[in-house]
Amino acid sequence: MPVTDGAMQPYALTLNKFIEHAAKWHPEAEVVTGRGGDAVDRTGYAALKARALRVSAALAGRGVLFGDRVATLAWNTQAHVEAWYAIMGMGAVCHTLNPRLTAAQLAAMLNQSEARVLIVSADLAPLARKIVAEAASVSQILVIDGPAPDWRGEDPDLSVSTLEDAIAGADGHVVWGDFDETSPSGLCFTSGTTGSPKGVTYTHRSGYLHTLRQLQADVMGLTAADAVLTVVPMFHANAWGLPFAAPAAGAKLVLPGRLADGASLARLIESEGVTMAVGVPTVWLGLLEHVEATGGDLPTLKRIMVGGAALAPALMDRIERRLGVAVQTSWGMTELSPLGVSAAPGDSDRKAWMSGRPAVGVDLLLTDAEGEPLADQRAAEGHLRVRGSAAIERYFGHDEAATDEEGWFDTGDLARIDTRGNLIITGRAKDLIKSGGEWINPSEIEAIVGALPQVSQAAVIGRSDEKWGERPILLVELAENQSVTDDELLEPLRGRVASWWLPDAVMRLDNMPLGPTGKIDKLRLRSDYRDASSAEGQFSGKRAAS
Ligand code: ADP
Repeated sequence: MPVTDGAMQPYALTLNKFIEHAAKWHPEAEVVTGRGGDAVDRTGYAALKARALRVSAALAGRGVLFGDRVATLAWNTQAHVEAWYAIMGMGAVCHTLNPRLTAAQLAAMLNQSEARVLIVSADLAPLARKIVAEAASVSQILVIDGPAPDWRGEDPDLSVSTLEDAIAGADGHVVWGDFDETSPSGLCFTSGTTGSPKGVTYTHRSGYLHTLRQLQADVMGLTAADAVLTVVPMFHANAWGLPFAAPAAGAKLVLPGRLADGASLARLIESEGVTMAVGVPTVWLGLLEHVEATGGDLPTLKRIMVGGAALAPALMDRIERRLGVAVQTSWGMTELSPLGVSAAPGDSDRKAWMSGRPAVGVDLLLTDAEGEPLADQRAAEGHLRVRGSAAIERYFGHDEAATDEEGWFDTGDLARIDTRGNLIITGRAKDLIKSGGEWINPSEIEAIVGALPQVSQAAVIGRSDEKWGERPILLVELAENQSVTDDELLEPLRGRVASWWLPDAVMRLDNMPLGPTGKIDKLRLRSDYRDASSAEGQFSGKRAAS
């Protein structure tokens, strides 16, 4: 007689489980929202879950169904976290929009996701107005963190109210997590491998497994005794997963709202007893400069996790010495949910240039430019590929896989791996600029400037910048017998690209260096000008046009 195997429970790995766990076992652990350093909203996980369920009911009442995309254009606040759980818990897909992009860019993303409902921070309503003018799918706007604007008469087909009013008018009860764990939960567009933004769809399962990895001691290692300041925006790669990880651990979640300047963050860290803070290097430079200028200490703060861009060694030293914290470097990508590797907090060998090791669930491979694995994975620089339980398989709306046949995803980063397994990012094969943790796409700027009749060739590259990591500079070769002022070159960009995309400086080259196929030799430009200093527009870097 064959024996009957036992079985374990079919426990679906859905993201609502985190807030349900926190509500039951850490009901009083707090979620605090700041505004300019003042705490303006304070709640516990039990209350947050109850409200998020009511938001789900409001969305259901407005026709949102399983699988529908619901967009958010909002800062890190309690109301935004409620919206996340409400959307994902009911099986809809949370499409986060980055308010630092232009209305045209955001509308193009909405035109792909076809979200009908857009949840907006009140102070972003003017941007939302411009977006919906170009995004045909959006028919309902729900405003959080402030009053709804009065757009009566402007667009009779658009319904605009506060989310609060929608909740008040909703009845019924929505059951969370009543679907397969491989269902989509989130959507985030990134231009992280090529210039044109592509959507990364997360699933409940990928987010759940990412959270468990994140909670490991050598990664974020959050505990119920922690208070974690989430500066990385919720519209940027899931806020690195913290709105899931904090409730999963029962940690206090501190959300800074719109402002992430040093003074506001220092006040929140002090008043909320923050133990760990997470964000891009630019933010920590701001905090450090504030503390250096005003004096004082942040005694509760023990760890800062830095990612999204390379950290300058001198900055890491200054942060560790002045703030008395351990800095954990990390590397990740929107396509990886986003955490790829991180340095263990207790590793005495931590260095700013080492991003750290992968935790279980992420694997790395170095290849040559053709995708052939390097014979020795511990010596040379290679092209970095990744696979794992929270890594992309296919972009939103694409039929073809984003991976090779073995399931490896090409990150577009160049890297080495040291003998201890630490990933060291050494460069970027992709032609993109990262400034303050956000992407700038050179080709969009080049297309606009290159279309000017006075310009023969235009190239935009990143120049090293102490505060922003990189800032764009514009290099032009003018058409014969043409002259043009810097402002005439930059003017056409205004209003067409985000203001922070505008190049910091312009340089004229006699001859643009070209590669073997006749394309602009960006590698050469980067090596000649990435450290160029400018004085009144004049560069003292090496001349590319030789
Ligand atoms: P995130 O900013 O959350 O890491 P993005 O998808 O916006 O996610 O950007 C990912 C890219 O940012 C990487 O492919 C890499 O080019 C760059 N990046 C991230 N972390 C680092 C790091 N520690 N050092 C150098 N570059 C990094």
